[in-house]
Amino acid sequence: MALLQKNTDFVKLTTASLGFDYCGISKAMQLDEDAARLEKWLNQGMHGTMQYMENHFDLRIDPTKLVPGAKSVITLLKNYYPDQQQSDDAPGISKYAFGKDYHDVIREKLKELIQSIKENIGEVHGRGFVDSAPVLERSWALRSGLGWIGKNGNLINKKSGSFYFIATLITDLELLYDDPFVKDYCGTCTKCIDACPTGAILPGKVVDGSKCISYFTIELKEMLIPGEMKGKFDNWMFGCDTCQDVCPWNRFSNPHNEVNFSPIPEVLNLSTHEWEMMTEESFKKLFKDSPLSRSKFKGIQRNLKFLQE
Ligand code: SF4
Ligand code: SF4
Repeated sequence: MALLQKNTDFVKLTTASLGFDYCGISKAMQLDEDAARLEKWLNQGMHGTMQYMENHFDLRIDPTKLVPGAKSVITLLKNYYPDQQQSDDAPGISKYAFGKDYHDVIREKLKELIQSIKENIGEVHGRGFVDSAPVLERSWALRSGLGWIGKNGNLINKKSGSFYFIATLITDLELLYDDPFVKDYCGTCTKCIDACPTGAILPGKVVDGSKCISYFTIELKEMLIPGEMKGKFDNWMFGCDTCQDVCPWNRFSNPHNEVNFSPIPEVLNLSTHEWEMMTEESFKKLFKDSPLSRSKFKGIQRNLKFLQE
């Protein structure tokens, strides 16, 4: 027990020193309930054209298939709530995309964490994931006591809301496990359901991904956004934060202190007209390290055009 406690303390202290805001640990096991929910969601086509969500189903529901001999799932939250807002005439960009691409930033931190565990505890195996298809991050966060899953599908931390990236490290290191979060503080609130511009939030904590503005503006690879969505995007050009912005628990959000997430000035200041006038060359230069590069110049242009139609 003393060794388990020592190793657990080491992991939690190291994650804090790497700049993660919360760390919860859960026993690695197959997620049967989540598997059933995911299967139903996929069968209903709520992933739209995101075919990758269908892949590796077995791996997604069982961490021991991702890391042989896995004993623990370490879940980490990293705050991205910015201390600055976009100007009023800027087309909407989701707050997570204000700065550098979080995949790169967090992947580096996960690598450092694994390295540090190996140096200080011994030869352990582990794989880090950040927003990558094979892991059910929110389920692990719930199981590790970090919060509940709100009606808008986001993990909500009672002390500081939902503007967090979720990363996981699956490892064969045995650790002490946190208690799961068993309460749900959404209560009778329906603010996110009422505010969603496209009606993507359904009863029973189901979000129809194929109707979400984030899906249309980022994930949809075909060039055309369906005509029935016209006039419904509330000026969101890349992603959408509406269901988080209206959530009462986000009044507890505090600005992050991660220098890599500092807003790119153009994200805050460019007007819709300036975006429309931008050349592909400038876009590539300004946003080469940004999540916006995921949509590519063509995708951003398509989104801008759709907002004007
Ligand atoms: S991100 Fe926007 S479109 Fe998607 S569910 Fe939330 S409010 Fe609706
Ligand atoms: S807006 Fe209300 S219902 Fe939606 S996630 Fe937040 S607390 Fe829950």
